[in-house]
Amino acid sequence: MLKKILLAKPRGFCAGVERAVEIVERLLTRFGPPVYVKHEIVHNRFVVDDFKKRGVVFLENPMDAPEGAVMVFSAHGVSRAVRQAAQNRGQKIFDATCPLVTKVHAEILRHRQNNREVVMIGHRGHPEVEGALGQADNGVQLVENQNDIQKLKVQNPRRLAFVTQTTLSVDDTARLVEKLRQKFPAVAAPKKEDICYATQNRQDAVKRLAEQSDIILVVGSPESSNSNRLREVALARGAHARLVDRASNAKSEWLKNAHTVGVTAGASAPETLVDEVVQWLKQLSPDAEVREMDGVEEKVVFAVPRALANQSAG
Ligand code: SF4
Repeated sequence: MLKKILLAKPRGFCAGVERAVEIVERLLTRFGPPVYVKHEIVHNRFVVDDFKKRGVVFLENPMDAPEGAVMVFSAHGVSRAVRQAAQNRGQKIFDATCPLVTKVHAEILRHRQNNREVVMIGHRGHPEVEGALGQADNGVQLVENQNDIQKLKVQNPRRLAFVTQTTLSVDDTARLVEKLRQKFPAVAAPKKEDICYATQNRQDAVKRLAEQSDIILVVGSPESSNSNRLREVALARGAHARLVDRASNAKSEWLKNAHTVGVTAGASAPETLVDEVVQWLKQLSPDAEVREMDGVEEKVVFAVPRALANQSAG
């Protein structure tokens, strides 16, 4: 019988996602629909479906949107080729790339200008990785695992640097970096970690949650990298863990024999979906106590682009 529902702190929306969603809201108010967005603005079905209903069109290629259209780049960032395509089409570009992803782009550019090859640690095919790899014409290689590092060949091991995707598992990445350093001792590291504060804080919180929970429900969409990592981190700490897009995807049989259920949410999952899940749990076990764990108070805020600054979402 379920006795306790513990909420991770922090959980859910990060500053980069808040900013990206706010940019689209302001554009809908200022220009009206359609607003075009390269890729899902953030990886959450609820957020994307809500925007679709209000006239936002999500696409992969800016060439599929009309000339002069309002074009937003998602929080994951885009390659230079995508940016160029939107410019060639005369589109009004609003960049919702998270500033912490832009920082990785800048690192790649700086290394290439300094004639360093770059190794990116990340997941092949993820839009953030595609965008980052597309910052340079050459000299950037992706590694996903130890096997890739073993096979990696570079021109000059003394002029080598690494960067990482922002939403990776902190622990897995530390192991890959160690492997990379064993093979290339002179490899240069980012001045400040590329894995972002939000990923780090949510993974730390889910580790604490796993110590006290029989099962953890991670609210997030299957495409969300950081939500998947939260589930893996919980599993690695010995808790059962499930990823749920929203309450209607959760199953009561998962809770059989569970006394304490932990709830967290990926950086792209809105708090309303967490509330839904808690309400569903309370319906199953009305007497269960709901408590938020102690955790980091996040105060990071990223400003919207200047062109949209003097406008509320309406
Ligand atoms: Fe930015 Fe991190 Fe949020 Fe991604 S998860 S949008 S990098 S703050």
